[in-house]
Amino acid sequence: MKHKGILIVISGFSGAGKGTLVKQLMKTYNNYALSISMTTRSPRPGESDGVEYFFSTRENFEKKIAEDGLIEYAQYCGNYYGTPKSYVEQQLEAGKDVILEIEIQGALKVKEKLPETLLLFVTPPSAKVLRERLVGRGTETMEVIEQRMSRAVEESQGIEAYDYLVVNDDLQSCTEEIHQIVQSAKCASVRNVEFIDQIRNELEQLSKGDK
Ligand code: 5GP
Repeated sequence: MKHKGILIVISGFSGAGKGTLVKQLMKTYNNYALSISMTTRSPRPGESDGVEYFFSTRENFEKKIAEDGLIEYAQYCGNYYGTPKSYVEQQLEAGKDVILEIEIQGALKVKEKLPETLLLFVTPPSAKVLRERLVGRGTETMEVIEQRMSRAVEESQGIEAYDYLVVNDDLQSCTEEIHQIVQSAKCASVRNVEFIDQIRNELEQLSKGDK
């Protein structure tokens, strides 16, 4: 039986390397689709509308909330971030495993709404490595880096809500690990209730026929 697509949330501290990991996953395997979020934060150098994010005004974002066009949304360091509903629904329907790269408040909202969602948390091997990566990225001011480090302290309190923890020290092995977790999750009985029902019915029908 063909498995239906599953919804996968990937969270992690800012600077944990989620973006690079997700890109590598999409490049290596063809069963994934990445949801593009909407945000009110300004584009970083090199980012463009519709690629990394749909960049939006607060007014437009609030309109989208009012229309119930988002699966979830959250405020992060003073900006709105949210997941548009329509793309995710289309891709799941088409059998793709859809990745949401979102922060923890959003992840918990998705899990509440759609409990069969797989939640993965990506962390660097240590806090020191995290800080070095944020500084090395060179895209944020020291003030923003400090803001993101203190946000990481808060986020670390919520890691146990995730199904799996993945330590990102080597890109290739971490990519493979995530793919393996996804493949296993697709076989979990909670994600196969339709098949279980179907085989139960078939068994009943067949065993009646035998009598
Ligand atoms: P950044 O500004 O570094 O691109 O993203 C900041 C944080 O917002 C990251 O943790 C990122 O995963 C999260 N984020 C991105 N898109 C969404 C979204 O649609 N919803 C939520 N809740 N968080 C998001």
